[in-house]
Amino acid sequence: MSNDKKMMKIFAAFLATETNTYAAAPTGWGSFEEYGIYRGDASTRDPQGLGGSMVELRRLLAAEGHRLVESLSAFAQPLGRTVRAVYERLRDDILDDLRAAGPVDGVILILHGAMVADGYDDCEGDLAARVREIVGPTVPIGVELDLHCHYTALMQRSADAIIAYKEYPHVDALPRLQELLRIVLDTAAGKLRPTAAMFDCKMVGLWHTTREPMAGFVRRMQEVERQPGVLSVSLGHGFPWGDVPESGARLWVITDNDPALAAILAERLGREFWALREQTVTPMLDIETALDRAARIEGGPVVIADIADNAGGGAMSDSSFILQALLARGTQGAAIGAFWDLGAIQLCRDAGVGARIALRLGGKCGPASGMPVDLEVVVKGVVDQHVQIGLNSTDEIAPLGPSVWVQAANGLDIVLVSVRSQTFSPTVFTGLGIELAAKRLIIVKSTQHFHAQFAPLAREILYVTTPGAIDMDFARLPYQVRDLDYWPRVADPHGFAARGEAGT
Ligand SMILES: [Zn+2]
Repeated sequence: MSNDKKMMKIFAAFLATETNTYAAAPTGWGSFEEYGIYRGDASTRDPQGLGGSMVELRRLLAAEGHRLVESLSAFAQPLGRTVRAVYERLRDDILDDLRAAGPVDGVILILHGAMVADGYDDCEGDLAARVREIVGPTVPIGVELDLHCHYTALMQRSADAIIAYKEYPHVDALPRLQELLRIVLDTAAGKLRPTAAMFDCKMVGLWHTTREPMAGFVRRMQEVERQPGVLSVSLGHGFPWGDVPESGARLWVITDNDPALAAILAERLGREFWALREQTVTPMLDIETALDRAARIEGGPVVIADIADNAGGGAMSDSSFILQALLARGTQGAAIGAFWDLGAIQLCRDAGVGARIALRLGGKCGPASGMPVDLEVVVKGVVDQHVQIGLNSTDEIAPLGPSVWVQAANGLDIVLVSVRSQTFSPTVFTGLGIELAAKRLIIVKSTQHFHAQFAPLAREILYVTTPGAIDMDFARLPYQVRDLDYWPRVADPHGFAARGEAGT
């Protein structure tokens, strides 16, 4: 560090949940408290969990002789609209901390981008705008978003730089945060003037970056980022189950004080993404087709994603559709998880390991969960504070709470967890004692995050739709707020074909 460099004070806060506006239950205090609400001390009290980003910011800033002012860290597993008083209290805690911090040189907000509360369709835009009011027009505000964000005009004009993850599964939160911090520091130092332009792709869907051509599109965005004057490129995929006015896939480019270049590149890349729409559709099967196909695959476990019951998208994680199909077929050697069923967990823990009991499992939270299933099971394992390894590093852990492993007929292993969670790590099973290598079939309640850690052990991966909470029929989602002028509901929402343009 050179002596003439000014020590900077950077304020940071983390507030995230992804709101499924179709979910039956609201996101309340309990949903946040389950993961811990940290007021300025997440980096010391939960460094492997919610505090991971703050630990990284603290390390990066210290390396350059700067200082972090750490504010709130709070996360809730996705569910319905956040209760108004809950959002306002968490937001106001951040704003109070910011005022108390006195003048700061920059602000980093680590947010989701699809948080919706009663009275607020765009919580992140609301928060960024209020932060702007406090710090004034010259202090840079950087925002990191999940790629399943709704990128809004309010966010764009309130923040200097917004960067979304590029990868789904989201394994790149830390490199994106590093890029964001670099832009904020250089802007604060007067070396940059970020300016952004957005292209609305008018597309609704889910895009896995683990396959071509999306893997190539990620590389393409990074190639453009190496062009002179370009600071960052993001594709916000949108969150299809958030019915808000500004949603869907949107691509934005940040340049150094060159709005024309930002606009040209955003449109160019947005059209390139549009042109890939038919090739990037997720290949999905119904339950019976998937189980038929899995039965024909020899050697090693087949991993089936129960997309519709992904807690990470706002599902209850207790749906029984695939479980019922496994039982009806008498499928041998399957493992399925993780069910969120607190009553069943309590009964199993009380019975103890080795007990054989009659258990009514799953199907309790609503029609999207299907019907409960009555089983005779043996309690095979109990862990009081179960965890799974996180997405970004093996140091990162996510809580699962008191959890049990029960075994039903035909060696069917079932995992139940107390913290409603999607299954993204094999440790959900192995941490309870289940050996996955010996399984023929592993069913995970996840849409795509599971891919990062399950792909290495999977013979094949199949994506399955069930009648659950996360409807993958994007052309028919029952939107009442957002406009219906999007692909695949409309073949040519841009009018490219009408104007004789190919799209790219
Ligand atoms: Zn996401």
